[in-house]
Amino acid sequence: MAERKEPPGAPCDTPGRGETCTEVYGARTRTVSFPTFRDVVRQVLHVLLPCPCLACGSPVSEPPRSPGLCSRCLEQLVCPPDRAIPCAFSYRPPLDLVIQAMKFRRLDYLAEPLADLAAPSIRNLVSSAGGIDSVVPVPLHWRRRFHRGYDQAALLASALARRLERPVSNVLRRVRATPAQSLHDRSQRRRNLAGAFLVRTRAQALVRGRKILLVDDVITTGATMEEAARELRRSGALAVQPFAIAWTPDEEEGDENPEEVDNRCV
Ligand SMILES: [Zn+2]
Repeated sequence: MAERKEPPGAPCDTPGRGETCTEVYGARTRTVSFPTFRDVVRQVLHVLLPCPCLACGSPVSEPPRSPGLCSRCLEQLVCPPDRAIPCAFSYRPPLDLVIQAMKFRRLDYLAEPLADLAAPSIRNLVSSAGGIDSVVPVPLHWRRRFHRGYDQAALLASALARRLERPVSNVLRRVRATPAQSLHDRSQRRRNLAGAFLVRTRAQALVRGRKILLVDDVITTGATMEEAARELRRSGALAVQPFAIAWTPDEEEGDENPEEVDNRCV
């Protein structure tokens, strides 16, 4: 669902159905929501084929804005403790079921309501970081993206970028598929990840001197995100602020990289 601002009582003549309108008319603004075509299709489909809550099976009241959870399960979301890499939620039930559905059941539209849930955290983070210039996803290796049909971190980064009114830049390329690393210690993980990312040759100008928000879906130790951030800094980024939707509480369970999580959930 897109949001649009216009002055109270005045007709808004700016087109942009399904887009985010950034115009602000003086000091007073109000928000008007316009459904996109996909929103309407999903709403109709929900009436015809209602989707139960991903966690408990109860009816979901507000698709497509709901992240697939009923109101009772939404109240069960857990915030993580302070981490070096800020995260919006702990990767526990019922949020883990939502992320797994987004990644492995082709429910890619869940990226939008997940971004809605994370929006307050991300706005606070960006504000305390003094603002950002662009949003960059931690990319999947092309083989995994080809197999899945989309890259969930890229979808989340785009959704968050729209809410922050900043561009999303797919400047990173994962040049090496890294194996599952749950049996490796931290130094071994770092060695395995060294050189896993490169900034695209033609994207150097989009990195140099920029303040970047680096986004991933799930992390554990943060080693993958640290390596991606290292590559951005090596290419001249002024600052890199990492952020993930969820943090896996049990660091012994596995590595933060999507391959390991895939192995556990497929
Ligand atoms: Zn539920």
